Amino acid sequence: MDLKRKILGVAMAAAMFVPAAAFAHDWGVHHHSASCTHGPMPAARPGGHYEVRTVQTWVDGRWVQDYVPERCVTRHKGRHGRRTVTSCTPAHYMKRWVDGHYENREEWVFVPDPVPSRAYPTGQVTVNGPYWQATARW
Ligand SMILES: [Zn+2]
Repeated sequence: MDLKRKILGVAMAAAMFVPAAAFAHDWGVHHHSASCTHGPMPAARPGGHYEVRTVQTWVDGRWVQDYVPERCVTRHKGRHGRRTVTSCTPAHYMKRWVDGHYENREEWVFVPDPVPSRAYPTGQVTVNGPYWQATARW
């Protein structure tokens, strides 16, 4: 395969990804730490390398059930407060609405290697994922 067709192939592959929406991106260089939430790096494959991208994904608003444990209140009654009455509210679940919000998620993104040549001394390949973008320049 000659270089022109190879680049065209990459461009076609990139065009097949349709950005789902205008999501915010973090193009910063990844500094690996214990707080990372991404999985292990995918198996290496030729023609590029993997980089971690932080992507923001929209989480729809939803109802959640909170567990409320049993609660007992003891009151003193009677003329001298000697009699006690205990009333308990049994354990139950309470519905709570959580608004839709953005959550950060870390993803491994395949970044194609630069493809330098005499015919194409400079150029770039951009791959658009659903929530991310990877660009290789040479
Ligand atoms: Zn990391």
